[in-house]
Amino acid sequence: MQVTSENRTRFTEEMRLIPGWAIGLAALGFVCMQFVFDVVIARQPDAPPRWGRISLGIFAGLVFACYFLLIGYVNRDAGRRGMSRVLWTVVAVLIPNGLGIVLYFILRQPLQARCPQCGKAVQTGFNYCPRCSTKLHPSCPHCQREVNLGDTYCPYCGGSLAESRPTEPAR
Ligand SMILES: [Zn+2]
Ligand SMILES: [Zn+2]
Repeated sequence: MQVTSENRTRFTEEMRLIPGWAIGLAALGFVCMQFVFDVVIARQPDAPPRWGRISLGIFAGLVFACYFLLIGYVNRDAGRRGMSRVLWTVVAVLIPNGLGIVLYFILRQPLQARCPQCGKAVQTGFNYCPRCSTKLHPSCPHCQREVNLGDTYCPYCGGSLAESRPTEPAR
């Protein structure tokens, strides 16, 4: 249950990344498809029946809406990961059948975090900010590698982590 709600929060956060113009284009694409199927195709002599046109219109509209939302997501997400926003937006738009978007999700860099002190984008795995040397993660005082908060001994060098956590009772 906990995991599910965490995943949902994460998904909502990702969705918030989608810019307004992409949501606008998605809505426009959806409405255009309703128009195409309900008005333009209805005038064709061999048009499918009305229920068929409506369901096809909704389906095509949803496909278009998802396409625009994903392009908007790629545009923002690429910048967040230190990748070229322009290049990846062009790739997502120009490679047909959504393959550019698939390519992006395969090749994207790991998410960059921000230094809480100076705001510089830092790669995941960095222990110290390269600009202001703020400590970003709990690390072993002996080998400087990243450790988990609850660990008593460093999993890499076996050194005691007790002195880095003064709240822990001495052994
Ligand atoms: Zn910093
Ligand atoms: Zn260590």
